Amino acid sequence: MFRTKNCGELRSRNTGENVTLAGWVKRSRNMGGMTFIDLRDRYGVTQLAFNMEVNADLCEKARKTGREFVIQVSGEVMERSSKNKELPTGDIEIKVDAFTILSKAETPPFTIEDDTDGGEELRMKYRYLDLRRDPLQRNLALRHKLALETRKFLDDQNFLEIETPYLIKSTPEGARDFVVPSRMHENQFYALPQSPQIFKQLLMVSGYDRYFQIVRCFRDEDLRADRQPEFTQIDCEMSFVEREDVLQTFEQLARHLFRETIDVELPEFKRLPYAEAMEKYGSDKPDIRFDMPICNLTDEMKGADFKVFDSAAYIAGINAKGCAGYSRKDLDKLTDFVKRPQIGAKGLVWVKYNEDGSIKSAVDKFYAQDELRNRLAKTGAEPGDLILILSGNQKSMQKALGELRLEMGNRLNLRKSTDFAPLWVVDFPMFERDDETGQLHAMHHPFTAPAKKHESLLRSEPQNALANAYDMVINGVEVGGGSIRIHNRDTQEAVFDALNFTREEAQEQFGFLMDAFKYGAPPHGGIAFGFDRLAALTAGKDSIRDFIAFPKNNAGRDLMIDAPATVSAAQWEELHLKPLQNEK
Ligand code: ASP
Repeated sequence: MFRTKNCGELRSRNTGENVTLAGWVKRSRNMGGMTFIDLRDRYGVTQLAFNMEVNADLCEKARKTGREFVIQVSGEVMERSSKNKELPTGDIEIKVDAFTILSKAETPPFTIEDDTDGGEELRMKYRYLDLRRDPLQRNLALRHKLALETRKFLDDQNFLEIETPYLIKSTPEGARDFVVPSRMHENQFYALPQSPQIFKQLLMVSGYDRYFQIVRCFRDEDLRADRQPEFTQIDCEMSFVEREDVLQTFEQLARHLFRETIDVELPEFKRLPYAEAMEKYGSDKPDIRFDMPICNLTDEMKGADFKVFDSAAYIAGINAKGCAGYSRKDLDKLTDFVKRPQIGAKGLVWVKYNEDGSIKSAVDKFYAQDELRNRLAKTGAEPGDLILILSGNQKSMQKALGELRLEMGNRLNLRKSTDFAPLWVVDFPMFERDDETGQLHAMHHPFTAPAKKHESLLRSEPQNALANAYDMVINGVEVGGGSIRIHNRDTQEAVFDALNFTREEAQEQFGFLMDAFKYGAPPHGGIAFGFDRLAALTAGKDSIRDFIAFPKNNAGRDLMIDAPATVSAAQWEELHLKPLQNEK
């Protein structure tokens, strides 16, 4: 046998056994007459001991073995005299009596330790080395477990895992498609799926009743931090369901996954209408691990000759409990924070409720203390609190306050990665208006059904119609989203009309779906979860990149294989394409 044990399984009960191990040299230490090697594989680290007096040749050889050499060793398991409590195998070591170098290694460009000295780019270039590190191995093991438990749970609930094609025609998730030129069909292209949306709906028309797939999706978006051009979804669809059936089923899936992978019982899933989420938290994916709601003060604050407020369409604030002691410098920092272009506020008005009962504010000139106290009664401020107020356009200031709320949550350490606060955001609008063109866009996608009572609004006032759509949000992260779907042609046509699709455009893009609806479509609905994000969330991490084995960088490049790249002249020709000539 190549090896009889792995590097993570030996304990003191194995003392006296003769074993063979194989793995990578994590590090070696020379201590006078003794040399020690930490041998690493996926399962752990085991200490190897070489004694100069017992076998000088072997010890010499061990000394010459560099980091990341791959070796095979045999020897006896010994109880250690000084035990290492940090290591599961820390009670034992191997007294090596045979040793083979299986493969030499150059010095790696960064150290392969939990805390490495390698920068992001370097680690991406040598991803196979980065992947040797423990934290990444743990992440990928967690990801595997999540996928396994997803399959177990959904299989138990009668879902079938069915594959859908990758080479398709445009799908409607609102991003740009990646396209693949066809060699056999000149001037024609496939598109890679932004999601299997249409196929899963067709599977419902075909009577599969419950479908799921852990599936790659492709979206050619301008890259924002922590977006990947290809990412994985747990994609699901069910027939003969109402919203409640879907929410119940997938709340159970989330519970199952958190229980089985990280031993966490999720608390109750609150239901929050979209409008309320925006009003209270300035976000459609609120982090409700902490409260700190936005308090609308538009009426309260006007009429004191403070021009900024008097001319503002919207004034609102948050109560940062216990922050009255903030210094001038702290407040300046917060002001800088809200003035950043991504946040977009013009300034910040602060009001301190001092412990001695007095009030100090940035607008003392305009409001007497008692008057201010009355006007701000709604915020529930008490001595020790700090009220932070923004004013301006409602939509953008709600968002800005939402960001400020998260910032204060961070500062006050109210966003612990080991706490989980799930909720469903429901009652999204059907459509969003593009501020520039005035054009309506589907907020979710064009197959989303309107709320039952809003069906009639589709033709008369589509901008006011609510959708039968829902998002699962945990800790301020949108982990999943879906909707009940339209299953008849008339409603579907009304939506295409609202979106300003001509009949021809609709027919050309989605005709097959509309046609399918002619042949008996069951009421259906579904959801898709961002699988990479779910993995990061369960591990309490923000970045999805460390949960994908071979991710792209922020510019959408794979630095290891160096993609995208050009292709040979022959390939260009076969594909009936011409490279653009660089104009001189
Ligand atoms: N296809 C949708 C998405 O990718 C999810 C769904 O509606 O099921 O966001």
